[in-house]
Amino acid sequence: MSGTPSFLRPSAAGLAAVAGVLFLGWPWLGRSVPEIGPLDPLLAAAPERVETIRLAPGQTFGEILARASLSWEEQNSLLLAFREQANPRRMGVGTAIALRWLVSEGRLRGVDVTLSRDETVRLTKDETGWTSELLVTPVTVDTLYAEGTVEDALWNAVLSNEGLSHLPAPDRAWVVAGLDQVFQWQIDFSRQVRAGDTYRFVVEREVRPDGSMRSGRILVAEYVNSGTPYRAVWFDPNGDGQGTYYDEEGKSVRRAFLTKPIELARISSRFSNARLHPILNTVRAHRGVDFAAPTGTPVMATGDGVVVSAGRQGDLGNLVEIRHPNGWLTRYGHLSRFGPGIRAGARVRQGQIVGYVGMTGLATGPHLHYEMRRRDGTAMDPLAVRLPPGDPVPSQALARWAQESRERLSLLERPPKAPPARMAQGPASPPVPETASRGGR
Ligand SMILES: [Zn+2]
Repeated sequence: MSGTPSFLRPSAAGLAAVAGVLFLGWPWLGRSVPEIGPLDPLLAAAPERVETIRLAPGQTFGEILARASLSWEEQNSLLLAFREQANPRRMGVGTAIALRWLVSEGRLRGVDVTLSRDETVRLTKDETGWTSELLVTPVTVDTLYAEGTVEDALWNAVLSNEGLSHLPAPDRAWVVAGLDQVFQWQIDFSRQVRAGDTYRFVVEREVRPDGSMRSGRILVAEYVNSGTPYRAVWFDPNGDGQGTYYDEEGKSVRRAFLTKPIELARISSRFSNARLHPILNTVRAHRGVDFAAPTGTPVMATGDGVVVSAGRQGDLGNLVEIRHPNGWLTRYGHLSRFGPGIRAGARVRQGQIVGYVGMTGLATGPHLHYEMRRRDGTAMDPLAVRLPPGDPVPSQALARWAQESRERLSLLERPPKAPPARMAQGPASPPVPETASRGGR
């Protein structure tokens, strides 16, 4: 990473130019040369000019290198070195590529490719050719315990929790969103919260040197709502990173469907079976729920399933239809565009982004039209339907569940006073991506 672009730093040549201007510009001062004082020795360092380019859609790393007038041999040597750290074909649009030029010789001396906030490939040229190294932000792993009482809203309680005051605000917001995800089927935090409700949770997180969180997972959480305790324990039954949350009995706290396909949206039109009005001729049945949200807001698959269709469909504009187990069908309409990889036949997981809010088709403003249908085609009210339960801990994982759940629940009882920090192994997963990973992994 380049830091301050070096062309913004004063250079010896620059100062000489300033001196020249002063000399030419002030002839009435006579023959005396203006004093500029001794030159700072730092300015004598070989100046580097950094040119940062962001990968445009359809553009390749090789094209950028060619534009930097690297010969074929040099390009190959550089790409070979780069491949030791990352796949150049998997560089996303917008990837920052910093070309570091040696000003005096006008040649490229180094290239930094920022793969993510935590990983940069540094390419350096020496006598033998190009070499590469991966610069990784070091992180530590710790376990965070917090508890508190809610006065009015969970959001306010967690954000004002003194025990969390060392957490950056985005990380505290992440915790609240995470608790909302975990308990969404048990508690509606926007309506059911009562003064005096209590919460406790333990988060395992990876922390950067600047104190920000690279990734985190709620390991165990408890929310006591009007005297009724709800507990959720994270467990990965297949050991494939696709864990989920269970109650103390090993029953899933999740349902087969999310309660809504979009976060933080306002319901703008509810489900209704009203028939066509015989006289006014205007009242139509509304076989779904409309969620008003800004264009571009991510829309999530509410359950695991297979995409049946993703395309333009009349009044509903860009529509995604997903077939779920037991014959359920969900539909997402008026999308501005589809999510990555969303096409007929694609498998999707609960919480995966299927598209983005828009107003394609017949819509007066940006909103999502969301439908749930049974196997026989009957449209159900998504806000009223009894959502089928998620699967319990599978029998082959029960022994491990017994041990791990006991360990995690005990974290709630005895908060670790000074959790031992340890270094994280290997590169991280991206920081807290879509909602599924909060609740689902
Ligand atoms: Zn609608």
